[in-house]
Amino acid sequence: MTYFKYILCAFLSITLLSCNSKPTKVFVAEDIKIIPKPLFTELKTGLFVFDKQTTICQLDLEAKEAVSLLSRKFKLASGMDLTVRIQEENPTNTIVFISDTSLVKEGYVLEISAENIRIKAHSKQGFLYGVQSVLQLLPVQIESSELVKNVDWIVPNIVIKDQPRFQWRGLMLDVSRHFFKVDEVKEVIDGLSKLKMNVLHLHLVDNQGWRIAIKKYPKLTSVGAFRIESENKQLREINGKEEGYTQTQGGFYSQEDIREIVAYATLKGIEVIPEIELPAHVASSVAAYPSLSCGIYSDEEPDANWENPGMYCVGKESTFEFLENVLLEILPLFPSKYVHIGGDEAGKGTWKKCKECQQRIKNEGLSGEDELQSYVIKRMEKFLSSKGKKLMGWDEILEGGLAKDATVMSWRGVEGGWEAAKHGNDVVMTPGSHCYFDHYQGPKSEEPLAWGGFTTLSKVYEFDPIVAGMSPKEQAHVLGGQANLWTEYIPTVSHMEYMLYPRLAAMSETLWSPKASRDWDDFSQRLMPLLNRYEFLGINYAKSAFLVTYEAVITSDKKELEISLQNEFSGTDIRYTLDGSPVTATSATYLSPFIIRETNTVKASVFENDIPVGKLLEQSFVYHKAIGKSVSYISEINNSYKGTGVYNMVNSIRGSKNFHDGHWQAWLDMDMELLIDLEVETEVENVIVGAMENQIPGIYFPTGFKVLLSLDGTNFKEAGVLKRDFVKNEIPLLKDFKIEFTPTQARYVKVVVEGYKKEKKTGGVFIFIDEVFIN
Ligand SMILES: [Zn+2]
Repeated sequence: MTYFKYILCAFLSITLLSCNSKPTKVFVAEDIKIIPKPLFTELKTGLFVFDKQTTICQLDLEAKEAVSLLSRKFKLASGMDLTVRIQEENPTNTIVFISDTSLVKEGYVLEISAENIRIKAHSKQGFLYGVQSVLQLLPVQIESSELVKNVDWIVPNIVIKDQPRFQWRGLMLDVSRHFFKVDEVKEVIDGLSKLKMNVLHLHLVDNQGWRIAIKKYPKLTSVGAFRIESENKQLREINGKEEGYTQTQGGFYSQEDIREIVAYATLKGIEVIPEIELPAHVASSVAAYPSLSCGIYSDEEPDANWENPGMYCVGKESTFEFLENVLLEILPLFPSKYVHIGGDEAGKGTWKKCKECQQRIKNEGLSGEDELQSYVIKRMEKFLSSKGKKLMGWDEILEGGLAKDATVMSWRGVEGGWEAAKHGNDVVMTPGSHCYFDHYQGPKSEEPLAWGGFTTLSKVYEFDPIVAGMSPKEQAHVLGGQANLWTEYIPTVSHMEYMLYPRLAAMSETLWSPKASRDWDDFSQRLMPLLNRYEFLGINYAKSAFLVTYEAVITSDKKELEISLQNEFSGTDIRYTLDGSPVTATSATYLSPFIIRETNTVKASVFENDIPVGKLLEQSFVYHKAIGKSVSYISEINNSYKGTGVYNMVNSIRGSKNFHDGHWQAWLDMDMELLIDLEVETEVENVIVGAMENQIPGIYFPTGFKVLLSLDGTNFKEAGVLKRDFVKNEIPLLKDFKIEFTPTQARYVKVVVEGYKKEKKTGGVFIFIDEVFIN
């Protein structure tokens, strides 16, 4: 079932059915597309119809939130005001919420028959998840906040028994790098609750902004919550002291705002965890109160740079007094037992130079700065524990010894988390490789600027918080996992949605559903109606997974250039053209890899029901006489830049301005010299080399280029020489250098590229070449 077909069918069935007085529809297994996938599902024949007479029986007070969620949805979308009773009265046409203490805390059982819907659960969360499953079974229009007519509000008869695999299914939202308003945070909470996730971790403090009002320290927000911003500059490019910019970017939550967010989240079954960073990432705080620093760094406004100068002086007692006072105001706002204190990326350099910090090391008998960090964490842990709270921190809190009851959030891979579990500490896994949603989710050229990385939808879906080799005892300490959305490059809600969805759906399934039921193709199918829902809700979800990507290889038999097209979902309908013409529904369907025998521009797109979805792939392949021919390297390629291997120079694939992109071959402090064997005598009239220049890291365009031809591989004759002067240049450039000559018969072509020779012989000169074209 495909995306647009689904939409079409959904609307068609609704229109047809509404002609009848009593809706009928035969549901099949493929219609059940719940994310995250339930533990157990059994489809029965028949269906339940919601109508004006449908009543809700709330037999357990814990079901209050779930009941109000369901009745509110119906009231808005259908106009039906379902009567809520607190005892079972109607034997039919009722949605009954029943307490079942035999179920696990977040588990639920959903039984739908033609007569009744019964939702059994043991907790508020269980009831909410039961309702979320009902909502996903209903037509997409149930998400409408306005009255929708001519919809049959029907769900299939079904039995679902469900419970989560992990207790911690979280999202960290960084509201420091860019501030998001209360209503925007509430939207994120809605998105989490639809996916049965249960933790929202708010990163409230970082160098770029302090986001929570503290009555005792008003400058934390009056000074620390605002920094400069320029619309055309990304955070990383902005110099904190640049003239002409004013501190306008920012904002903060009042304590009332926080209560509102927490109350809203609680209604949706979501726990809000505050993160108050220490001892590093606190330029915003130190900007407000410079006496909190070691005195080496002081500034009067929060940092707009990515540099990390903000550190607390932990030699002074007054710093701890400040931190405890801050926490004393924060703790009552968050009912959660967890308080995240950050603890990551503390450079410790300022501590080395600070008299008071060094005195602390001496007085406490600590071995050095690492143990001083550990001292800080242990001291905060003791304080929090005295207030009945549990300390949580990034995996750096392991350095110098871990506090006994601390919970570790493992972001630098999963090793830190595993180590903590070995010590008997609880852990939440959130490795950058799978859980960092600030990473690219498609090819850089097609995506908005992101932090880096490459975390596609399918990669998120591969995430598993349990590491192979963990003992059962260690596994028991893994609370679950979490996606992290750092917002350096994410200034708007729409951009935030793009980065979150649909990757959050993949994350929710990895944390909720049993490992054994993990199936990418099955998930892909179930994802389509969810995307349809996002579309309906106006959520700017990413279509990156629909992008067509290509792979180019030289075939092993005939040494030809073979192109294959693919996209993340299997079995998708890809159409393409080779002549540069637009791709339409009548273009060729991609069935298998094809050979390029002339210069072609490949255009390709995923089609759903004859309509293109996602972005268009457009890639030119320049055909030339050396494609797939054997290349002998006379001078040695640099080990770090070997490109794609022996055919790198003769595969028509060009490198980008990113010299790490894997398409460049490089030579360090030597000329490039290679020999291409065209296998038969061939008429040759020009040779082109593709080069890159990026002088700052030491990559220079050639200063000389020479072509020699031979018929026998022994006697070479110079065909042409090109010389150029060195030009100083500060930006990365790509350029093709060409030597033309009278058409000549040749079998062997020797290409020599000379590197720039610095006046002072300091070395460190790279030549970067991506292709040698022979025509
Ligand atoms: Zn200090």
